Amino acid sequence: MSELRFDGQTVVVTGSGGGLGKAYAVFFGTRGANVVVNDLGGSFNGEGQSSKAADAVVDEIRAAGGKAVANYDSVENGEKIIETAIKAFGRVDILLNNAGILRDVSFKNMSDDDWDLIIKVHVKGAYKCARAAWPHFRKQKYGRVINTASAAGLFGSFGQCNYSAAKLSQVGFTETLAKEGYKYNIICNVIAPIAASRMTQTVMPPDILEKLKPDWVVPLVAVLVHPSNKHETGSIFEVGGGHIAKLRWERAKGALLKTGPSLTPGAILRQWNNVNDFSESSHPSGVADFMSLLEEAQKLGENE
Ligand code: NAD
Repeated sequence: MSELRFDGQTVVVTGSGGGLGKAYAVFFGTRGANVVVNDLGGSFNGEGQSSKAADAVVDEIRAAGGKAVANYDSVENGEKIIETAIKAFGRVDILLNNAGILRDVSFKNMSDDDWDLIIKVHVKGAYKCARAAWPHFRKQKYGRVINTASAAGLFGSFGQCNYSAAKLSQVGFTETLAKEGYKYNIICNVIAPIAASRMTQTVMPPDILEKLKPDWVVPLVAVLVHPSNKHETGSIFEVGGGHIAKLRWERAKGALLKTGPSLTPGAILRQWNNVNDFSESSHPSGVADFMSLLEEAQKLGENE
């Protein structure tokens, strides 16, 4: 099989002055894409700004024969980032919402600023970029989006409740975009990556970091945003260090109780094993799955 290419397509990579974003940008630059290298150039906890990080990546892509332009706006101003793509290349095909910062602190000591800044960059930033790209995607009946979640969002992580909340939001955001975009050939997926970067270098030992090159996250992203992926959408993938796996929701067997006065705390406790029984589980993927359960519950009442 020949290598996946992206000739003539424009990819916007937010936060691509370093870490994972840089790895995506450099890769797409070598595969024929026009690349918008966005980076605010601040510190890992969101302080300051500089054009240096984005410029260095643009230089690297161009030196290797690729096409790239820099953008230094914060993702909170997503419309300016998409405007850079349209001005430089006349189109936008792929959006990789990757920019991110940390403000780690225990919940007890968290300030409103720590909370607000994380939500602004991760949640509002991804929204603003996707919002600005969406009309282009719809008009051309083509678009590919990757949003970035985190294990911290999926499972929780000590000292990261702001980041966890922001990162799990990317799952719901992606699943809805996938549902709304599908008929316009807009494919949206979310990844929970793990990679060595300035974000992880202080929390992981060097021998582990050595095995977690950002480069090992890139190929999955390439597969998901390639034109040949027409149906894999609304999915969550864990990826890093050579491990790639899809995650999904799992619903336990559950209890179906007749509604009314008999639906007491005690009635639930008597069914507690079923509520927690994953030996007969299902994998819901939409509100309709819940509605069919409600219909069954309704029948219980009617059969009385
Ligand atoms: P990183 O700090 O190397 O890269 C993040 C980049 O985003 C930086 O270059 C930074 O300048 C840029 N940025 C920050 N705020 C911005 C803003 N407002 N506008 C534009 N650019 C901004 O970290 P990374 O590890 O490469 O992280 C990339 C993404 O992956 C983040 O969303 C992060 O939360 C997520 N993530 C990373 C890991 C990991 O193991 N590295 C794990 C889970 C999730």
